[in-house]
Amino acid sequence: MPPRQRRRGEGQWALGYREPLNKNEENKKNDDGLNVRDRILGVYSKAGFDSIDPADLRGRFRWYGLYTQRRPGIDGGRTAVLEDEELDDRYFMLRVRIDGGRLHADQLRAIADVSSKYARGTADLTDRQNIQLHWVEIESVPAIWETLESVGLSTTEACGDTPRVILGCPLAGIDADEVIDATPQLHEIHDRYIGSPDFSNLPRKFKTALSGCTAQCTVHEINDIAFVGVVNDQGETGYDVWVGGGLSTNPMFAKRLGAFVRPDQAHEVWAGVAGIFRDYGYRRLRSRARLKFLMNDWGPERFREVLEKEYLGYTLPDGPAPGAPRDARRDHVGVHPQRDGNYYVGFAPRVGRVNGDLLHVIADLAAEYGSGQVCTTTEQKMVILDVPGERTADLTAELEAHDLQVRPSTFRRQTMACTGIEYCKLAIVETKQRGMDLIGELEKRLPDFDEPLTININGCPNSCARIQVADIGLKGQLVTDADGNQVEGYQIHLGGSVGGAFGKKVRGLKTTADGLPDYVERVLRRYQAQRGDGEAFADWV
Ligand code: SF4
Repeated sequence: MPPRQRRRGEGQWALGYREPLNKNEENKKNDDGLNVRDRILGVYSKAGFDSIDPADLRGRFRWYGLYTQRRPGIDGGRTAVLEDEELDDRYFMLRVRIDGGRLHADQLRAIADVSSKYARGTADLTDRQNIQLHWVEIESVPAIWETLESVGLSTTEACGDTPRVILGCPLAGIDADEVIDATPQLHEIHDRYIGSPDFSNLPRKFKTALSGCTAQCTVHEINDIAFVGVVNDQGETGYDVWVGGGLSTNPMFAKRLGAFVRPDQAHEVWAGVAGIFRDYGYRRLRSRARLKFLMNDWGPERFREVLEKEYLGYTLPDGPAPGAPRDARRDHVGVHPQRDGNYYVGFAPRVGRVNGDLLHVIADLAAEYGSGQVCTTTEQKMVILDVPGERTADLTAELEAHDLQVRPSTFRRQTMACTGIEYCKLAIVETKQRGMDLIGELEKRLPDFDEPLTININGCPNSCARIQVADIGLKGQLVTDADGNQVEGYQIHLGGSVGGAFGKKVRGLKTTADGLPDYVERVLRRYQAQRGDGEAFADWV
């Protein structure tokens, strides 16, 4: 195909093609998603659900973290054949963004209050450090925003074709081992660019991670842009920049630009990369609109050249790559020393599911045992900071009395599940309850299993729970059972890891949902019997 024709086909603004090529682009051109806030406050919350313009309901509401949730009772087999409006419930999921994952007890209490008062007590920790609530009615949104904003929280650009929540190590500035405290850069990027019309119409979502954590807990390999703390050969601390990672149906790991970024340059580099995405990103097809497709076509050298010449106006020096993560489990679960002599205590609910009452308890414990600082992680877990050494045992006991395990089994610690059919309109199968049941079964059947092992469960072919980078990745779909019936089940991906390889999708390797515990038990017993000394699951499989 001639290049000009192909470029026009991609709908890249920088090449002069501004006419919308699909409905999403048309909606964004018609009105900036950020403008819907005034209509929510002034019109929809007063006149009710039926007053909502469909282009706002299924488009611009996302710019404020609002998605209609799935109407109950529609089975997964009908997901693909029903129109959006048939799947829509009159209630919303609301995503609260927690940039860097750091909260104060008062902020967590505010989320807990909103959950209890306006969201039927629901609350899920996501693998991007957000907290999601369900059953929200449009009439409640102004009061919810007032509550959240009174403590400095927001839902702005929590969803939509925008810069989403910025991942940061929850131990930033506290962890004894970190390369650099990325907090100032995280705040600067957030304060300058989130909610800015300069970046409120991107081709699709844009995910950022920024961290100096040696556990590399922000999984830089699968973000659109990631800043990873490094020390260059002059002994200066700064960042190595990775661009173009993402999973979903075409998974790609981010590529290093090979450039060293000083802390004071980080916000400019962020804006440059986001600007490239805005201007050169592919807007014709939603399925090709993530930054990873542009990176895949350009490669890191051309990307860096365009960044430096057209966006920064200066060149960046070459810099080193980060080392390997300090631990195979890239998380912060357990009791660990801080650099100031206190301890942090990371704990694991099951697959991120909590509730308003529990969030209140956690906030109270954070205030009673620590400084009130409490964090969300990228593994659907939480961490209480600043606990004196002599109080960690009591805090652990209190948390575990609420089934928040500080010393969890591998299965509790490393199983994640996406939202699934309970609320998600794209889902084909149930995920959260299955994940919780699976953890319980595996803890009973394999009580001594203590190897690192990730099990990630998705309700559809998207990858909100990162199936391609799990040791055992489960992609929800309908499968045929032994009696020839179509039932809920999973396609199995084996041996994936962040920073390693994507899991192998073995043709025909599927399980029914009911058969899932038997399948996982079988494969793990084989692994235990056959593995070499210290051999990781991903290497064995
Ligand atoms: Fe919904 Fe699919 Fe994402 Fe799960 S993976 S939350 S089912 S879109």
